[in-house]
Amino acid sequence: MIKKDTFDKEKFKKELESNVRMLFRRNLDEATTQQIYQAVAYSVKDDIIDNWIETHKAYEKQDKKMVYYMSMEFLMGRALGNNMINLLCYDEVRETLEELGLDMNLIEDQEPDAALGNGGLGRLAACFLDSLATLGYPAYGCGIRYRYGMFKQKIENGYQVEVPDNWLKYGNPFEIKRDEYAVEVKFGGYVDVEMHNGRQKFVQKGYQSVRAVPYDMPIVGYGNHIVNTLRIWDAEAINNFNLDSFDKGEYEKAVEQENLARTICEVLYPNDNHMAGKELRLKQQYFFISASVQRAVAKYKQTHDDIRKFHEKVTFQLNDTHPTVAVAELMRILVDEEGLEWDEAWEVTRKTCAYTNHTIMAEALEKWPIELFSRLLPRVYQIVEEINRRFVIEIQNKYPGDQEKIRKMAILYDGQVRMAHLAIAGSYSVNGVARLHTEILKKRELRDFYEMMPEKFNNKTNGITQRRFLLHGNPLLASWVTDKIGDDWITNLDHLKHLKVYVDDEKCQQEFMNIKYQNKVRLAKYIKEHNGIDVDPRSIFDCQVKRLHEYKRQLMNILHVMYLYNELKAHPDMDIVPRTFIFGAKAAAGYYTAKLTIKLINAVADKINNDPSINGKIKVVFIEDYRVSNAELIFAAADVSEQISTASKEASGTGNMKFMLNGALTLGTMDGANVEIVEEVGKDNAFIFGLSAEQVMEYEKNGNYNPRDVYNNNQDVRQVLTQLVNGFYSPENPELFRALYDALLEKDTYFTLLDFDSYKEAHNRIDAAYRDEQHWARTAMLQTASAGKFSSDRTIEEYAKEMWHLEKVTL
Ligand SMILES: *Cc1c(COP(=O)(O)O)cnc(C)c1O
Repeated sequence: MIKKDTFDKEKFKKELESNVRMLFRRNLDEATTQQIYQAVAYSVKDDIIDNWIETHKAYEKQDKKMVYYMSMEFLMGRALGNNMINLLCYDEVRETLEELGLDMNLIEDQEPDAALGNGGLGRLAACFLDSLATLGYPAYGCGIRYRYGMFKQKIENGYQVEVPDNWLKYGNPFEIKRDEYAVEVKFGGYVDVEMHNGRQKFVQKGYQSVRAVPYDMPIVGYGNHIVNTLRIWDAEAINNFNLDSFDKGEYEKAVEQENLARTICEVLYPNDNHMAGKELRLKQQYFFISASVQRAVAKYKQTHDDIRKFHEKVTFQLNDTHPTVAVAELMRILVDEEGLEWDEAWEVTRKTCAYTNHTIMAEALEKWPIELFSRLLPRVYQIVEEINRRFVIEIQNKYPGDQEKIRKMAILYDGQVRMAHLAIAGSYSVNGVARLHTEILKKRELRDFYEMMPEKFNNKTNGITQRRFLLHGNPLLASWVTDKIGDDWITNLDHLKHLKVYVDDEKCQQEFMNIKYQNKVRLAKYIKEHNGIDVDPRSIFDCQVKRLHEYKRQLMNILHVMYLYNELKAHPDMDIVPRTFIFGAKAAAGYYTAKLTIKLINAVADKINNDPSINGKIKVVFIEDYRVSNAELIFAAADVSEQISTASKEASGTGNMKFMLNGALTLGTMDGANVEIVEEVGKDNAFIFGLSAEQVMEYEKNGNYNPRDVYNNNQDVRQVLTQLVNGFYSPENPELFRALYDALLEKDTYFTLLDFDSYKEAHNRIDAAYRDEQHWARTAMLQTASAGKFSSDRTIEEYAKEMWHLEKVTL
């Protein structure tokens, strides 16, 4: 076992050499950097295996309750660095590699990100796994082994181009295929009723099926010998076609099944906060849920004989509605396969499942056409019908004669299966992801459900893991913090508050800002290499990195940059603190407005960065292919964190927390977790602007906002909008940005123009604040010192204690 106290450099070198020979038939000095990465990864995996086995033995022996975190997405990023950190051998391996003349950073850079997620929802799942293992809670992550994860983003001529992300090209050193746990998952066909011992039995026939094969990835806890599992499922064809058979029907079926197996795990749908309604997506959902639930039941039965007590040992956390079919699938298994009566099965199911809501955006709500759902999942659909029938009776009993309640709450309505309603009906808990979001759910979106079953509703404010986003991502700051307050913060982030005694200490302020400067130099180097742009590390690094979505308002950010540029051109002597505006964002491949916004950002960048007359006072950088690995560099280097969503639209945000942890000041609306960030750090230590959630929702209700009023009364807004359609940023095609112009002037769904002045004024406050170096340093340090609440360790403790009722395992 590699441990801080026992790490044996010579042994590690030998292992490395032997791995390179065994894997690639080469000596170390002949190996490519990719081959060395693989060899290092295998050495590290070797050190994980014993603990992985021991952990699972302990789980069985101690028979503790287990959480299955069900998620379509796990945005893991790279594993090697994180695993070494949590094994407490990072520095030792780095030193050993240095002795061999090898650079750890270059080796880490060889690992492709496991980008099995879109954005915040998938990264939350990854942070939760890290916290679960570190806290010693028995847990599985259950998901899909997409053969192509999130697409790679290239910027060509300013436009986003999507390139397949073949992340498994060189294999994945950390995963283990568990063929022995493969299960069958069935689609389509019809349901027959047979009599078995005087009881009706429902049997799916004429179906197509695939073989779900799990791959396990180790999730290493920090310094505690615990190793949990992320189990991601791949699909294989179920039967090898028999060449002797000339039966045409058989042949076609075999080919179809081959195709199904090939396509089902092919790609991750690149939509964030948007429901596309594709048949293959529903197949993916049922595929990994059926496999995971089947395995969970089988595993439980190995050591328990009363399935009626399943919920005492197992809980399923549904990460958004994507895994909601678990409610019906568990019912199917309990009723059809385990022979429980409906009421018994329903009680077990309702005590097993819990649902996390992630958004109130209408276009993200999952609704499947009944036609599709029932054709694809005929038996599961029958079960949903019965759940709905009984749920409607419950509603009627509670609200006799109130048809409106049924219309609003039924699971099946208007030809659709409403997945959120199924999730709420079938769960013991419904949680929002930040205080404001949960309040909006209770008061508005889910009000009827809240009134009918208030006991289910609760809040769990999101968090992030400090092991990745400080200890790994910002090693300079991490060791500075440890020098000041010891290293307890690594597993108890509340300890950061002990930094508060240093915020007025001038020497500490200088040290803190010097580390920020080093990190800005590191990012500037990355930008030079990837964008060919020189940025000044002494300028303010003002960052907005997150998925591109209209509600997140990257458009407002770039419109403000356009405004600033106009000001600089009109007043060349204007005294502003130099600013580098840094963007990073992928847009869903089919999201036209989002992709046009990327083009606009790049067009503005091109013009401004190449205009010598402004003396480099502003620069604009679009970082290609935003993902976990380059995010770590950006958070560490940021001075300003742009969290500017239209109030009420961002359920929580977690990027905001990563920036705060790394000492960036928040420029934001009172939305999502920003509210709680401001509460922790103090409102004088953040730049807050814009409409409140209440105000936005009032305007939406009354429909009394007219963006033309802003346009008519605001000369600055008029000028930048005109520049969208007069060729200022697209001389070859003046109409290029017309769609953005029209969207803003006709509806401005996200109140960009209405918030513009207030946003501008907040930027002025930043300019003024940055001039007072000492005060800025103090405020930056306060961000880190106040970030304790936003550890995913705190979030997971809340889930474990208040919802799951899990106990920790000790090794
Ligand atoms: C944290 C994170 C997100 C979520 O960012 P938000 O600003 O909360 O939307 C998305 N992508 C990556 C790579 C992240 O690390």
